[in-house]
Amino acid sequence: MSYILETGQLCKKFGAFTAVNNITVKVPALSVYGILGANGAGKTTTLKMLCGLSRPTSGSIRIDGEELQFGKTHDSRLGFVPDVPQYYKWMKPRELMLFVGNLHHKQGPSLTSRIDELLHKVGLEGCNQKIGSLSRGMKQRLGIAQALISEPTILVLDEPTSALDPIGRSEVMDLIRSLAGELTVLLSSHNLHDVEEICDRILMMDQGRVIADDSLLSIKSQFALNTLELQTEDMYLLQSAASLLSGHSEVLEVEILEDKQSLSISVVNLRAAQIYIPSMMSSAGIPLSLFKVTEPTLEQFFLKMVTAR
Ligand code: ATP
Repeated sequence: MSYILETGQLCKKFGAFTAVNNITVKVPALSVYGILGANGAGKTTTLKMLCGLSRPTSGSIRIDGEELQFGKTHDSRLGFVPDVPQYYKWMKPRELMLFVGNLHHKQGPSLTSRIDELLHKVGLEGCNQKIGSLSRGMKQRLGIAQALISEPTILVLDEPTSALDPIGRSEVMDLIRSLAGELTVLLSSHNLHDVEEICDRILMMDQGRVIADDSLLSIKSQFALNTLELQTEDMYLLQSAASLLSGHSEVLEVEILEDKQSLSISVVNLRAAQIYIPSMMSSAGIPLSLFKVTEPTLEQFFLKMVTAR
């Protein structure tokens, strides 16, 4: 596997306080890599070091095998979008894009067509409003467009959806999803659902340290729960099923989830339960409308990892 970004024992101290503690990670090229962590875990500090905006106290950063030197001129291989992008309010999106393009020494028809392409990609092609009057979601999408002007190989987004309403969030999520496969996306978030939806690899941080670094698939399989979900046509049948299952020696716990009108069944052996539960229901004449293994969520995994420390 080729890695576009690698860090070696990266540390950042603020006085005696260690905000980022020995982070060694490898980001596969073209992945959508999510950095997860609670408030203060060290996500933003890590991203700022990766983007050359903050000097590491120690450790190394390599982009495409080449060591990043802090203080060198801006590295156009990285595009950065802060959590709440702030731009000149009096500019219009196209003017901002021209300004940023010029900063990257781009000019002429190639810049104009790149701007057209990017504004179209982020859904702002017809927007003639001043930036000051744009919604937060539009500003976030413009932030992504301006970060792509330099044709970076890595797009870094710091909590891209944290300040957005559900519509803005969904638009930004769709946009990030559409970029997958074109370039490497590295984003931080404390929203587990967002990360679960779009990231293929996850770095979990807690108090400046890495507590997990793996693919979403692998994290979920390591954290498989011995729990099944069962639904019947009505509450009466559900209660009958619950009392039947409670008497089984291999059933550890049966919980009625009123909101979902379903049972959560915790068992000793998942494979065995997938056979005896339908058979018990069939013998009792209880038709099942749903019966499935409960998928572990990233939230459950995160809580387990954090509380285990
Ligand atoms: P959030 O989700 O709240 O943005 P985060 O995971 O991005 O949190 P950071 O902003 O990286 O966390 O902060 C990590 C720790 O470092 C926090 O305890 C923060 O107070 C501290 N910190 C960050 N910047 C500085 C600074 N310039 N001076 C001193 N401490 C700082």
